[in-house]
Amino acid sequence: MPINKGFVLASRPRGEANVGNFRFFEAPAPQPGAGEVLVRHHYLSLDPYMRGRMDESRSYAASQKLDEVMIGGTVGEVVASNDSAFAVGDRVVGQGGWQLYSVACAADLRKLPAAKVPVQAFLGALGMPGVTAWHGVNRILEPRAEQTLVVSAATGAVGAVVGQLAKARGARVVGIAGGAEKCGYAVASLGFDACVDHRSPAFEADLAAATPQGIDRLFENVGGAPFRASFRRLNDFGRVAICGLIASYEGAAATTIDDMRLVLVRRLMVQGFIVMDHMEDWPRAIAELAALAESGRLTWRESVAQGIESAPEAFFGMLKGRNFGKQLVRLI
Ligand code: NDP
Repeated sequence: MPINKGFVLASRPRGEANVGNFRFFEAPAPQPGAGEVLVRHHYLSLDPYMRGRMDESRSYAASQKLDEVMIGGTVGEVVASNDSAFAVGDRVVGQGGWQLYSVACAADLRKLPAAKVPVQAFLGALGMPGVTAWHGVNRILEPRAEQTLVVSAATGAVGAVVGQLAKARGARVVGIAGGAEKCGYAVASLGFDACVDHRSPAFEADLAAATPQGIDRLFENVGGAPFRASFRRLNDFGRVAICGLIASYEGAAATTIDDMRLVLVRRLMVQGFIVMDHMEDWPRAIAELAALAESGRLTWRESVAQGIESAPEAFFGMLKGRNFGKQLVRLI
């Protein structure tokens, strides 16, 4: 019987999460019951939302339960099946969590489409982050040609897709990212028109220089000071999609809007959204993103940690911006 390894949530963070909040376990792999399959995970996705689940505070989703395997998206292959819909060897995406093996029922798994992309893409640009970008761009911001769209965490799993989708709609795209290397990549490889380093002391002046016509569309992934600077530059009838506020997930001060008068006098639309509320968009979004990827019009980067043991450190690194692209853990 194969050995399973993984992490459970052992305690809730007080302030910043740390390795002591997780407990490593090793146990025989679980056995699938009637109508269930056993999945061997190839990749685990590490995502910012996991930090919120570690807390007990009221949110849009239930907290991660203590002493249970940490929640997480996974891609892998079926290694035993008691469901006629799945055969050994099928490649699937699901919520297997921070572990090497999981048992799932058919309703909780999706077979991977036969797209010519690496399987882990279904955790990133062709998975939940990609659909998030697709929804925010196409359903909320709807950028038009010549409009200026700003996206923060611009080289990350969501941000990289946002910028490329907005470019495809003809918008002028300006990224905000941490450091010269990420900004250089956003322009040279993702095709953004400009990218501004939020760590630079000249950030506000650089943002103004990169958005000489102001900002028409803001896809917000971070919050904090970069958000407030972008918000002040919004044009009349500007739209803001509040996707994430990662700058405050580890307990930093909550992001505020300095002057609500701007919402009134500039007739702004500010819309928060959660991708899981929009399951109807997923099939279309994934099909469109897969077509773009296969034709070379959608690209991305990955930060890949090796081995389940590396998951906590890789997770903390992502929360601090040490990832460069979609953060994954390779488990094979
Ligand atoms: P990323 O791959 O973008 O990784 C996180 C990035 O956030 C870091 O690399 C870093 O980029 C940036 N960051 C972290 N802390 C700060 C900070 N204090 N100031 C500025 N930047 C910071 O993650 P994802 O693409 O997976 O997620 C991006 C955002 O989208 C998150 O806020 C997440 O919660 C949200 N999200 C929301 C969903 C929804 O349904 N609403 C669904 C999926 C994601 P850099 O170094 O460039 O600053």
